[in-house]
Amino acid sequence: MTPAPDILSAGVKSIAAALGLSDCRIAALNGPAPHAAEFQAWLEAGHQGSMAWLEKNPKRRQDPREVLPDARSIIVVALNYYQGIRTPMNGKSGQNGSLSSHPSPLSTPDPQRSSNHGTIAQYAWGDDYHALLDEKLTDLCHYLETCGGIQKLYADTGPILERDWASAAGLGWNGKSTIQIHPKLGNYFFLAEILTTLPLTPDPPMADHCGKCVRCITACPTQAIIAPRQLDARRCISYLTIEHKGSIPDEFRRAIGGRIYGCDECLAACPWNRFAQASAETAFTARPFVHQWPLRDFLTLTDATFLSLFRHSPIRRIKRPAFLRNVCIALGNTGTPADLPALQTAAQDPHELIAEHATWAIQEIKLRHSAPPAFS
Ligand code: SF4
Ligand code: SF4
Repeated sequence: MTPAPDILSAGVKSIAAALGLSDCRIAALNGPAPHAAEFQAWLEAGHQGSMAWLEKNPKRRQDPREVLPDARSIIVVALNYYQGIRTPMNGKSGQNGSLSSHPSPLSTPDPQRSSNHGTIAQYAWGDDYHALLDEKLTDLCHYLETCGGIQKLYADTGPILERDWASAAGLGWNGKSTIQIHPKLGNYFFLAEILTTLPLTPDPPMADHCGKCVRCITACPTQAIIAPRQLDARRCISYLTIEHKGSIPDEFRRAIGGRIYGCDECLAACPWNRFAQASAETAFTARPFVHQWPLRDFLTLTDATFLSLFRHSPIRRIKRPAFLRNVCIALGNTGTPADLPALQTAAQDPHELIAEHATWAIQEIKLRHSAPPAFS
């Protein structure tokens, strides 16, 4: 016999906590996602760039009942990946921190940074999160199955407007950065969902607590947050360094600074991180390459050593050419003449994407280091 909704809901939350999930909330499924129309308008404006998969299955994305017709509830979980520190600011934008700025002798990088480390978005410091989330949600699904439910899980995959459902379930609110904000976790956490045919007791949605704050919008190095809760992904460094496959447009290269995979600037700016505690998941602990590898050492990676270094890391999925493209940009922004030999080798790489960005980086370093001193 299926337990009553409140008993079932309490069971789900207790199992989620036992599985190490950081929060678990429930929303009733009785209509499309609350902001489905806004999402469609965002797509029609072309703000998704080359992320064509976002345009697929619009009906399924807008209404989860298209995926699981008898779905009655959606369970939204959060998994904290915060490592106890805001991402170091050596991802600071190249030169003077503004978009497409001209190099200035006033802002020539410190030569001590010649063996600079790049900045990697914190979610990618450790193991890929998909398998871990999938495992935890599968365990939760087993419980729901024993209670007579049919389930469909999304471990940060598949067509679902997850932040919308997270807000509807009261897990937090959609911040002006477009990132989900949780009042205790801040914004360094993953979201995942389970659709179930079981009727569960929904949680009340949470009010928006951004207030007059605009820190994330101001912090964005490329002005990608074009209005509160509106992101032009084509300008976003996370998109440019992860999702975008080709050459990075010149206008964004200097603003990328030392970031080699993703960007945490709008996350780090959010005051709601003040209550965040370090994640207990050891899988998310930073691997040695995050803080210990000088940027230019990444240029020595072959296809085989790239795959080996980034085994089980989210970085692996962008493949060597795009990763080395990012490294070249970071070196162009923060490197010194000591980095030129490695870049000159990269400029001969048979992969045009790497060669072109290495050539750009060489020019940037030479330009910066031929500039006269600002003051004597
Ligand atoms: S991830 Fe970086 S570039 Fe993208 S919106 Fe946030 S601050 Fe801007
Ligand atoms: S930085 Fe401020 S405006 Fe942006 S999401 Fe956080 S609270 Fe909201």
